[in-house]
Amino acid sequence: MENKETLAQWDKQYVWHPFTQMKDWLETEPLIIERGEGCYLIDTNGKKYIDGVSSLWVLVHGHGKRELLDALHQQAEKLCHSTLLGLGNAPSIELAKKLIEIAPGGLSKVFYSDNGSTSVEIALKMAYQYWQQKGEKKRRTFLSFVNGYHGDTLGAVSIGGIDLFHKVYKPLLFKTRKAPAPYCYRCPVKLKPESCHLACVDVFEHMVKRHRDELCAVVIEPSVQGAAGMIAQPDEFLKAVWKITKENGLLFIADEVATGFGRTGNMFACLEEGVEPDLMCVAKGVTGGYLPLAATLASDDIFRGFLAEFDEFKTFFHGHTYTGNPVACAVALANLKLFESERLIDKVRKDSESLKQHLARFCNLSHVGDIRQKGFMVGIELVVNRKTRKPYAPGDKIGHKVILEARKRGVIIRPLGDVIVLMPPLAIEESTLQELLAVTYESIHAVTGA
Ligand SMILES: *Cc1c(COP(=O)(O)O)cnc(C)c1O
Repeated sequence: MENKETLAQWDKQYVWHPFTQMKDWLETEPLIIERGEGCYLIDTNGKKYIDGVSSLWVLVHGHGKRELLDALHQQAEKLCHSTLLGLGNAPSIELAKKLIEIAPGGLSKVFYSDNGSTSVEIALKMAYQYWQQKGEKKRRTFLSFVNGYHGDTLGAVSIGGIDLFHKVYKPLLFKTRKAPAPYCYRCPVKLKPESCHLACVDVFEHMVKRHRDELCAVVIEPSVQGAAGMIAQPDEFLKAVWKITKENGLLFIADEVATGFGRTGNMFACLEEGVEPDLMCVAKGVTGGYLPLAATLASDDIFRGFLAEFDEFKTFFHGHTYTGNPVACAVALANLKLFESERLIDKVRKDSESLKQHLARFCNLSHVGDIRQKGFMVGIELVVNRKTRKPYAPGDKIGHKVILEARKRGVIIRPLGDVIVLMPPLAIEESTLQELLAVTYESIHAVTGA
C-alpha cells in the first residue's frame, strides 16, 4: 500500500465520491479506512472507530468474521464467477432455496442482481411486463410514497419521493403517483398519532381506488422509510396498505433493501404484520456486508405470467453480467447460517429494548425534536426549536457537524440531513453499543448546546 499522504493526495486527484459535494471534500482532509475489526474501522493513522452505521447499513456480524471469510475463500478457490445466462452454479441455487424458506409466504422464485437499485428496477419491470402480458395495457404506472427511497437508477428514482435527490432528474423520469407517508412527527394530514386512526391510510385508499386501472403495483419500504430519516411507520400501517392494495387487485412490492436481514428485529419487516408481498427486493445485509449482491423475490403467479412459447417473446429480458455471482452467494449462505447458529434475531430483539431505554435520555437535549427507532434502525431528528419543530437551515449543516464531533471521539456515523442515524452492526457487543450512544449524545450536545 502507498503511504497515507500519497493515498490522501490521490484520493483528491482521482476519486469522485458518491452523494458528496466534492468542493467541500477537496478542502478537507479525507479519512481513509484501512482495516475492519469486528464492529470497528481503523484508518491509515491507526485510529479506531466504531462503525456506527454498519458501513452504510450492510454489516451484520462485524468485519473479519471468520465463517464469512472462509466461505468467501473456499468458493473463490473453486469458482469466482460464471454466468447465470444459460448456466447454473451451486451457491446461487442453494441460496435461492434458503431465501425462499425464510421469506414471507407466497414468494417462490429468486432473480439475482448486485445492488438494491437494480433489485428495485427488476421488480418494476417484472410488474409492468406481467400486466402487459396479461393484456392489461393501460397499467403503466406505480404508486409509491412521499419521502420514499428506492435507489439511484432512473426507474428507482421515478418512484422515489425525496425531492432533494430526485428533482433535477425529473424530465428523465416516468410519471408515478405518490401517497402521503406516515411521518408522524410532521404529519401530512396534520393529526396526532394517538387519535388519527391512521387517517393517512384513508388518503392512500382513496388514491388507489381512483387510479387502480392505471397502476401496476404499490411500492413501499415496509416498516421504516430509511433514507428519508428513519421514519418508522405506526403499527398496522403496513398491513392496512397491503390489504387495500390486494383488495384493489394490484401487485404489492416490498423494498426490504434496508429493512431485510434482521434490521427491524424480524428477518424481514413484512413478517411482523403477516404481510405477503408479490415481489420483494433485498440487498444490503444479504452477504453480511462483505460483497455486493441483491435479489428480487417473486410470487409463483408472477413467474407463471412469463411462461410461454419461445416465439411469444414473454421472456424477462433482463440480466446483469454478475447476476448470481457464486462468491457473493456463498458468503450470503454463510451469513444466513450464522443468523441461526448465533440466534441473532433474538439478540437484536433483546438489544432493541435496551437501546430504546437508553435513547430516552436523548430527550434531555433541547434540540432533539424526535427520536425514532425500529429494531436496530435509529433516527434522531434535530430541530432549531422543539416547540415549533422548526428545522435547521440546510446551510447550518448541523447533522454534518455532529458526525464530525463523533469522529473526533472515535465513532463513524452519517447523518441524513438533520437526522442523526444509528445503524449498528446486529452483532455489536453491549458495551460498544453503550459507547456509541454516549459519543452520539456528547456530539449532539457539543454542537447544539444543552
Ligand atoms: C439503499 C437502498 C436502496 C438502494 O440500494 P443500492 O445498493 O444503494 O443501490 C434501495 N432501497 C432502499 C430501501 C435502500 O435503503
